Amino acid sequence: MTPAFKSRIEGALSQRAQQGLSRRTQVIFSGNQTELECDGKRYINFSANDYLGLANDQSLVRAWQQGLSLYGCGSGASPMVTGFSPAHSNLEAALCDWLGFERAILFGSGFAANQAMLFSLLEKGDFLYQDKLNHASLQEAGHLSSATMKRWKHNDTRHLDTLLDAKGCSLVVTEGVFSMDGDLAPLANIAQVAKQKNAWLAIDDAHGIGVLGEEGRGSCDLAAIKPELLVVTFGKAFGLSGAAILCDQSTGDYLAQFARHHVYSTAIPPAQAFALTHAIEMIRTQRWRREKLDELQQTYALLLKNEAGYVDTSTPIKPWIIGDAQRTMAVSEHCRQQGLWLTAIRPPTVLQGTSRLRITLTANHNTEQLKVLARSLLQAMGESK
Ligand SMILES: *Cc1c(COP(=O)(O)O)cnc(C)c1O
Repeated sequence: MTPAFKSRIEGALSQRAQQGLSRRTQVIFSGNQTELECDGKRYINFSANDYLGLANDQSLVRAWQQGLSLYGCGSGASPMVTGFSPAHSNLEAALCDWLGFERAILFGSGFAANQAMLFSLLEKGDFLYQDKLNHASLQEAGHLSSATMKRWKHNDTRHLDTLLDAKGCSLVVTEGVFSMDGDLAPLANIAQVAKQKNAWLAIDDAHGIGVLGEEGRGSCDLAAIKPELLVVTFGKAFGLSGAAILCDQSTGDYLAQFARHHVYSTAIPPAQAFALTHAIEMIRTQRWRREKLDELQQTYALLLKNEAGYVDTSTPIKPWIIGDAQRTMAVSEHCRQQGLWLTAIRPPTVLQGTSRLRITLTANHNTEQLKVLARSLLQAMGESK
């Protein structure tokens, strides 16, 4: 008899394969630059979330190296024990100063921050409201939490309004910029609805922070709102990794003590915190990176706006909707042969029938690379009809 775990694992793998939805990791050289290398071949990279082009910036590399000289390697412990260094404290202060909150609590990843936020705030009898397209980390935490979760239709504030009850502890959670569609949440309306019903609002701005708003303060700055909780992640525009939850004083005290991902997890390396503080300085002052992105977005629109598949967005996330998962794979494969690295996004990451290429622009791309993208993409679309 096949042992139970074995048959479960093999069953799941073969089902994925039959659906054409298998995934695998590949070894990629320079995946954080606009030209990457895989299996000895070079590709133009339109798949990284390094929107501002900081992940391989030499000044940021030197900041991390300087942090290593100052603080050594690991933090050695949880922040509640001995892992909280001056570098961590300075990073929290820099985040608060930049984004206008009283407290910032650091986490090892955005996934952990989202889970920590929902698990520590919500109790049985509470209500959690989420946009249907929220990130997997939020959806999963919502399912696992003891609160009652209700989901509103993507960006449909009226639907949220009809679901939202004015009683008890209610938390409304949305992304600022949606990761697979690149569209903005109607944050001003959502904030108004939440306020009317006495609910708290939490924004996950993984894809807006650094890119949108004055000094890159993100989606909330653009919409002129201030939520009770703001999650920012450092793996995208910051070019590093980690995350923080911004909030008021008492909520910060509460999270620091009750968020298990904070209490029972080793603090990020102090050198990384040091580099992150440097990244904030770069994001705030180097406006040219956002201006360059704007220019590239305009070029992208000029080249492709009349073609089937094009979606207009005001962010560097440019979904190219194909629909069928197999055809999406075929187009992606054709593009690969032309030297373009575009990630095919299929269910379960996105809804059935909305498979797509997720094209991302970074401040390090150039016009020539966009022209190659447009030419090869249209050719690939034609060849895989
Ligand atoms: C990437 C992402 C996360 C997870 O952040 P990590 O730091 O990569 O774990 C959370 N929310 C959204 C919307 C994201 O895009």
